[in-house]
Amino acid sequence: MPARIAGIARRFGAAILDQFYPPICLHCEAAIADADALCAKCFGQLRPITAPLCPRLGIPFEVALGPDTVSAEAIADPPPFDRSRSAVLYNEVARKLVGRLKYGDRPELARFCARLMAAAGHEFWESGPVLVPVPLHRFRQFERRYNQSTELARALAKITGLQVDPLLVSRVKRTKQQVGLTADQRRRNVAGAFAARADTLGRLNGRGVVIVDDVITTGSTVKVVTRALKEAGVGQIDVISFARVPIGQGLS
Ligand SMILES: [Zn+2]
Repeated sequence: MPARIAGIARRFGAAILDQFYPPICLHCEAAIADADALCAKCFGQLRPITAPLCPRLGIPFEVALGPDTVSAEAIADPPPFDRSRSAVLYNEVARKLVGRLKYGDRPELARFCARLMAAAGHEFWESGPVLVPVPLHRFRQFERRYNQSTELARALAKITGLQVDPLLVSRVKRTKQQVGLTADQRRRNVAGAFAARADTLGRLNGRGVVIVDDVITTGSTVKVVTRALKEAGVGQIDVISFARVPIGQGLS
């Protein structure tokens, strides 16, 4: 092919691809107008978590109880982090999206999830915190070559203009998969699994941290990460996730 034509082909390649492969729903693959989105039907099946909610745990309230009223769960078992927010409840559609996110087969999915997370955590961004993804153990990262929390944090950073630092916390113990474990087993499984890295913490310069995870189930993982950072002297620590399992519901 003459160079000139090859150049034109390259230049218009993206446009041509768009014509042959129009944007599809990230869940059911129906044709849609905008890239990185769900079709109206699938979007309608997501359950966004919106106010009124517990200011500490971010769990939805049935009725508004006033801005300072925390949930019974937060009083009974106060979390080590300051605030936690999640974009959606972990239902069937959310479960499928998170499953795909984990194996990285749809990178644009992280951009979609991050848009909802940016809205859910809107109170967090103004103070300029550093985004810290929950790390995978290096063996698991090697197997999977992909950490979904890091991808979410990077997508969130693009929207919020914040910095991501995946090296503030490391996973020092290889834990079992949390799937199928009871709340108590989960707590013991992740105990001592994370450590803040003294060599990197200076980079915070007094800034707070927002821990980024894909799903919060019992919260045992983000609590252990929080404790590791608190012990290292980090002040404000908030948590953001794409989905969360409603408290008291079955673990998966
Ligand atoms: Zn769809």
